[in-house]
Amino acid sequence: MSVPTVKLNSGTEIPQLGFGVFQIPPEDTAAAVAHAFGVGYRHIDTAAMYDNEGQVGQAIRDSGLDRDEIYVTTKLNNDAHGRDEALRAFDESLQLLGLDHVDLYLIHWPLPERGLYVQTWQALEHVYREGRAKAVGVSNFQPNHLHRLRDDAEVAPAVNQVELHPTFTQHELRQTHKELGIATEAWAPLGQGSELDSPTVTEIAERLGRTPAQVVLRWHIQLGNIVFPKSVTPARIEENFNIFDFELEVADMGSIGALDDGNRIGPVPDDFN
Ligand code: NAD
Repeated sequence: MSVPTVKLNSGTEIPQLGFGVFQIPPEDTAAAVAHAFGVGYRHIDTAAMYDNEGQVGQAIRDSGLDRDEIYVTTKLNNDAHGRDEALRAFDESLQLLGLDHVDLYLIHWPLPERGLYVQTWQALEHVYREGRAKAVGVSNFQPNHLHRLRDDAEVAPAVNQVELHPTFTQHELRQTHKELGIATEAWAPLGQGSELDSPTVTEIAERLGRTPAQVVLRWHIQLGNIVFPKSVTPARIEENFNIFDFELEVADMGSIGALDDGNRIGPVPDDFN
């Protein structure tokens, strides 16, 4: 089953479904990523903060897959804001991954009170121009941070990776992304598991003979979001991949979107420093 891609403003294409490795302990990461590759995932989302870039790199080498078959995203840690610090952190991530380039490099959080994200972005522009990051983007940026980059930066972010799930749909932020030509990546696409008991979701799942996770992931795909659910359980890794042989009707898309009750799980980016 082939995974659709989303064309980024960098001109490169990202597989719309990937595998996220947040909170996977380093010692379990290589096995989980290997299983994901075996199932057919070709897009891995990691971060310096997750402390498992080395193990992701190991799994890539062990896979025997060609580098250009795999899409790798990593992110700049919060302790490395500032142009020079960011360049150093980027080198460190590449070294841990054992790669000469990443497909996507992101600023993990804007940390607005520190006031360095524009300078930090200059480092990302630099590695993008060098070709060591094929695309660059941001994560947890609010509209005001995105507008600041539009005004003060030369390269536009290709993506913004934000918390997004049925009870927190980020409608306005997605509109801003559309206006600015930025693709939406949804973190915690399953609400970290909390959305799967919703009667709306379970009713649709039962009617379609699917699991709640498949229904929620399919909702993201049809909205145009890029997703990378996390699991260490082989059966769930497989289940989360098998979402391209069915479709949700408009009415079901609407009732899942109507679950939005402002249920943010993570920190408010403007207050997170
Ligand atoms: P998620 O929504 O992917 O939920 C993961 C949890 O859902 C699992 O731990 C498991 O408990 C459950 N689950 C997964 N598949 C399931 C299935 N088929 N059936 C039942 N339960 C299932 O949450 P996440 O891991 O926080 O987010 C996904 C990825 O997003 C992360 O791995 C990471 O790559 C990224 N992320 C980024 C940020 C950021 O600040 N940029 C923050 C959090 C996560």
